[in-house]
Amino acid sequence: MSKTLILTDRAITGPATQVIDDAAVLVDGGVIAAVGRAAELDPSVDISVPRLRCPGATVMPGLIDCHVHLAFDAGPDPLRTVAHADPHKLAAAMAERAQQMLAAGVTTVRDLGDRDALTVALRESIASATVSGPRILAATTPLTSPGGHCGFLGGEVATDDEIRTQIARNAKAGADLIKVMASGGALTPTGPRMWEPQFTADRLRVVVDEASRHGLRVAAHAHGTDTIAECVAAGVRTLEHCSWRTADGIVYDRAVARSIVENDVAVCRCVSGDWRLFLEQLGPGRAEAMTKVIQDMRADGVRFIAGTDAGVPGARFGDYAGMLEFFASLGFTHAEILDMATVDAAEALGLTDTGALAPGLRADLIVLDGDPLSELDALRRIRHVFAAGRQLSL
Ligand SMILES: [Zn+2]
Repeated sequence: MSKTLILTDRAITGPATQVIDDAAVLVDGGVIAAVGRAAELDPSVDISVPRLRCPGATVMPGLIDCHVHLAFDAGPDPLRTVAHADPHKLAAAMAERAQQMLAAGVTTVRDLGDRDALTVALRESIASATVSGPRILAATTPLTSPGGHCGFLGGEVATDDEIRTQIARNAKAGADLIKVMASGGALTPTGPRMWEPQFTADRLRVVVDEASRHGLRVAAHAHGTDTIAECVAAGVRTLEHCSWRTADGIVYDRAVARSIVENDVAVCRCVSGDWRLFLEQLGPGRAEAMTKVIQDMRADGVRFIAGTDAGVPGARFGDYAGMLEFFASLGFTHAEILDMATVDAAEALGLTDTGALAPGLRADLIVLDGDPLSELDALRRIRHVFAAGRQLSL
């Protein structure tokens, strides 16, 4: 790979309050070699290096989707589809979905549950540049209780020993992290209800301890208010959904929120790009309760990271910007939203080499028309995507 000098009206280097006007970013192979003002950088870079001149544009870190399911097809019944899919066809479909995400500016995805560790194979193909796509962090098979949420993926565990065995199996398959279905979920109506726990507090600790013995972090699917508290106490690193459900509706617990903040646990409050339809289906009362707890968490200092849950019904691949607009509709500033999608996401995922523009980091970056700090819609006008320095022109 060769060098490219990208010249734009501005660079958002990350966090989003850090902006350079008339910016230049030098990409050298797979990494960022320099970031600065064009007036200084342009004359210092050899004339033979190609210039990518993008007037009116912003360059910023590539986006990170912290919650996807590449094995699911976003159709009405992804479970059945994934269970019956031919592995070769499924692998091809997953590669196609990964490319859709890359075209939307997503240069890193965290896959939180697949079949047969197919994401690990795709991760390797992308890493070796056999196919193009975002970098993948793969959870492989999620741990769940017998008959529990997404048990069809093969991760049902009933005892401490079974937990240890499944985690060892995932680690051997190449998992980058462990996903535990700590509470029930909507996709599995025959399992526990969404607010009901699937594991005891002790068992959640076994999951976290065993994962950490393998050097892996834990992401917990947690809808129930009690389950959220137990996951934080057990030491999970990210809470997926975190919707504060109880048998009596949504109940926010400020003391638990405080422990989320104190333990530096990030919340991935997944919504799809089609969130307006989702809110409509919930009805005004429940939609308001659902959004109110997000605002409560924000007011209490909880750190959010961005995820679409792409692959579940209605959550299409490649509508990342739509998901971010949901947070704008709740009053989050554009700078906060961009950080959720970049620096904060990278940090929560334990990635120290992406999520910002700085010398030495991976060249994961996007060039878009306009300025997303003043107009979020600019994220729908992506001109160029670089993933580990490899350019995708749109
Ligand atoms: Zn999910």
